[in-house]
Amino acid sequence: MADKRDYYEVLGVEKSASDEEIKKAYRKAAKANHPDLHPNDKECEARFKEINEAYEVLSDEEKRKMYDQYGHAAFDPNGGFGPGGPGFGGFGGFGGFGDIFGDIFGGGFGDIFGGQRSGPRRGESIRARVTVSFEEAAFGCSKEINIGRVEPCPDCHGSGAAKGSSPETCPDCNGTGSVRTTQRTPFGVVQSSGACKKCGGRGKIVKNPCPKCGGRGAIRKNQKINVKVPAGIDDGQTIKLSGQGNAGQDGGPMGDLLVTVLVKPHPLFERDGNAVLLEMPVTFAQAALGAEIEVPTIDGKVKLNIPEGTQPGSVFRLRGKGIPYLQSKSGRGDQFVTIAVTVPKNMTGAQKDALRSYAHAMNESVAEKSSFFGGKKKK
Ligand SMILES: [Zn+2]
Ligand SMILES: [Zn+2]
Repeated sequence: MADKRDYYEVLGVEKSASDEEIKKAYRKAAKANHPDLHPNDKECEARFKEINEAYEVLSDEEKRKMYDQYGHAAFDPNGGFGPGGPGFGGFGGFGGFGDIFGDIFGGGFGDIFGGQRSGPRRGESIRARVTVSFEEAAFGCSKEINIGRVEPCPDCHGSGAAKGSSPETCPDCNGTGSVRTTQRTPFGVVQSSGACKKCGGRGKIVKNPCPKCGGRGAIRKNQKINVKVPAGIDDGQTIKLSGQGNAGQDGGPMGDLLVTVLVKPHPLFERDGNAVLLEMPVTFAQAALGAEIEVPTIDGKVKLNIPEGTQPGSVFRLRGKGIPYLQSKSGRGDQFVTIAVTVPKNMTGAQKDALRSYAHAMNESVAEKSSFFGGKKKK
């Protein structure tokens, strides 16, 4: 634990960095150290792991708070916080991220009932979120999430009345939940109706309340819910699980569970609709002479032939290697590969000599022999 680097330092951001800055820094650092682009480089691999670990924590509001307060000890399985540490169980604080995200499945939040009426009422909708990887969003996955919701009380089955008793019809409103009042005013007699005060508009009275729920007929419970994330979903979109929200009142149906999907940025790929974008480094020689290169895709590596004289910034299309279309059984977007030409570093003497002969053949002026600075430079 002691030799663990500070997560902010790992990503190269300030402690006050915004979510967007952290996301950007993560992509940059992860890309620079990605194993696919640096095969057999153990140092890169270790750094890549470290970067992912740092992002895992700093991209999560709760975990970041914990880290800011307790440092690495907050996540030490042998530390004093017990498994998971405090406050990690579920998705604390629903809401608060409501309007930032779009909502593909419609499912508005207009479930506001006129408060003053009796009879069954539909339960409220609950919001939750789930984080998936770039590939999981592309191909779909199943995720278990923890939510807290209101469920019908198992002891009284939602009636609120203790065992052996049942709710009684309210004598004031005869079970209608509303009462008419007659008022004499200077304009004459005005009749109006309002919620019955005695029963609170429910039309029923529980004289002997259920001890488990205190007569409310419902209790708060933590539930594990399995969320099927459809292939092709994008960051910020919401999945509606009908009837998985809060219990209704007086036998009304359950509300919905609205799960917003957060897609973790990929170190190599970027997404634009159903297209996957990738910047692929090739060497000068490969670009000049043409080459068969291995290109990462979300399906794994594929071979791509780049022709002789390929210029930096050239774009190649890999058909059907993009993101599957959401809610469609077939069809995928494409992947676009932008070529980046890299300049070799730390060349051996023989390699430099070979490059010098090339330069001479091209009549190019280059530094002859190793200069003081170009010779043994530490990386
Ligand atoms: Zn009960
Ligand atoms: Zn009443």
